[in-house]
Amino acid sequence: MDCQQSSEFRVLTSACLLGQPVRYDGQAKGSADPRLAQWREQGWLLPVCPEVEGGLPTPRPPAECQRDGRVKTEAGKDVSAPFYRGARLALALCQRYGITLALLKANSPSCGNERIYSGRFDGQLVTGEGVTAALLKQHGIRVFNESQLDELAQALDRTRPQQGSD
Ligand code: SF4
Repeated sequence: MDCQQSSEFRVLTSACLLGQPVRYDGQAKGSADPRLAQWREQGWLLPVCPEVEGGLPTPRPPAECQRDGRVKTEAGKDVSAPFYRGARLALALCQRYGITLALLKANSPSCGNERIYSGRFDGQLVTGEGVTAALLKQHGIRVFNESQLDELAQALDRTRPQQGSD
C-alpha cells in the first residue's frame, strides 16, 4: 500500500489480522468482525507485520520471548535483532502518522499485548508482552488485541473529536 496517500490512519494493525499471510506458518489470522472491514474501508488501519518488516522470512521457525528479553527459536537461534528492528519500525510508523492506537494479534512474541508464550515452547501462555507491543506501550500508544474491539471502538470514538478540532 502507498502510505503517502492517506493521513487518516488511526490504528496500527497486525497485518495477519487483516488477512495477510505473514504468520510464522505462512498463514493469516484474519478477523471477520465487521468493524474491522468498516475501519479498513475508512482508511483508518495501517497494516504492519513487525517480524517481516524486521527482516524475517515467511514461513519462519516459531520463536518465543525469553526471560532475559531475547527472542529465540526452539532450536536456540537468537532472533532478537529482527524482532526488535521490526518493533522500532512499527513505532516509527506510529510516530510518522500520529497514530496513538494499535490493534495487535494476541499472544504473539511481537504483537501480544497481555500474554505471550512461556519461552519454553510448552504451549503455555504467561502474562507478558511481545516486543512490539511493549515498545509501543512505552511510547504511550494504547495497544488492543482482537478480542478487545469494543474497547478499541470506544477509544476511537474518544479520539475522533480531538483529531477533528486540530
Ligand atoms: S508479527 Fe504480528 S503481524 Fe506479524 S504475523 Fe506475527 S502477530 Fe501477525
